[in-house]
Amino acid sequence: MLDQLLASMQAVALPLKSKFRGITVREVALFEGPAGWGEFAPFLEYDDIESSTWLLSAIDAATNPTPMAHRGFIKVNATLPAINNVKEIEELLQSFAGCDTVKVKVGENLGEDIVRVARVRALLPKAKIRLDVNGGWSVDQALINLYEIYEEVGPLEYVEQPCATLEELRLLKEKLVIEFKITGDEVIRKAKDPFAIDLQGAIDVLMLKVAPLGGITRAREIGAHHKLPMVVSSALDSAVGIGYGLQLAASLPTLDYASGLATGQLLSADIATVALENGEIAVRSVSPDADLLAKYAVPVERLIWWKERATRAFYAGAENEIKARGWKW
Ligand SMILES: [Mg+2]
Repeated sequence: MLDQLLASMQAVALPLKSKFRGITVREVALFEGPAGWGEFAPFLEYDDIESSTWLLSAIDAATNPTPMAHRGFIKVNATLPAINNVKEIEELLQSFAGCDTVKVKVGENLGEDIVRVARVRALLPKAKIRLDVNGGWSVDQALINLYEIYEEVGPLEYVEQPCATLEELRLLKEKLVIEFKITGDEVIRKAKDPFAIDLQGAIDVLMLKVAPLGGITRAREIGAHHKLPMVVSSALDSAVGIGYGLQLAASLPTLDYASGLATGQLLSADIATVALENGEIAVRSVSPDADLLAKYAVPVERLIWWKERATRAFYAGAENEIKARGWKW
C-alpha cells in the first residue's frame, strides 16, 4: 500500500489570503487510490505519531466508499483569523457571502479580541458569533474575558476551547453564571485515545475534524461514541479535504450547527473549486485539477520531504490501524 501511495504522491503549496495559525502558505500532499484522492497535510510541526492519524484519514478516503448521505447541501460558517484591520475584515467576510454564522479566532489579546468581535457584530448585526480560543485562557481569564465579550456583543453561539484541559473546562462550566455553550476541539483531536476520555460536564458540543481524527470512518465512530451534538470543521484543508468534511457532515443523522468547511475562502488558490453559494456547499467528493496540481507544485526537495514524512507516519501508527480494519488498496 505504501509503495502505491508514494508513487502517485504530489504536493502543492497553496498561498493564504491572511496569516492563519502563523503560516502564509499551506502545503498539502495528495495521492490517488482506488476509491478517490487522499489528502495528507498535517501541519509542519506535527510529529510522526500525530501525523499518522492524518495519513489514516487520507488512506480511508482513498480506499473506502463514502458513507450514506442524509443531506445534499451543508450550511457553513465564515472563519475570521486574528486580524483587526476593518477593511481586511470586511473583505474577508464578504468572501463568505450568505453565511449567517461567523467563527472568530480570539485568545491572544483581549483588547484586540473585543475590537474584532465588535467589528463582526457591527458588520453583520444578525449573525451568530462563535469564538475559538484554541485553549488559550486559564479558567479565571475565561470568566473575565467571556463576560467582557458578552457585555460588548451579547450572546454567543458557543465558545470553542476557552481553556486547554477537560478539568479546566469542567471547572469553567461550574463557575459561569451566564450560559455559554462550550465546544471541544483540541481535547478530542489531541487526545491519545479520543474514545477513552470522559467529556461529561466539560463540553456541550463535540467538534469533528476529519484528518486529525483519522478519517471519515473513525470521526463518525468517535462522534457516535460520545453522543453529544456535533459540529464539523476543517483543518485548513485543500478542496479535497473539504470534500471529506462535506461527506462527514452529510452522513450525520442530525447536524444543528453550520460547519467550518468554507475555509477555502482563506486560501488565495486551491487545487479544485468548492463553490460556496448562499452560505451552503453542495456535498461531493473532490478530485484535484491536474493543471492546478502542476501550477502549485512544491519544489522536488519538498516532495521528497513529504514522501519521507508519509513513510514515517505510516509506520508510526497508520499501518497497524489499517491492518486491524482490513482496508485494502
Ligand atoms: Mg479550534
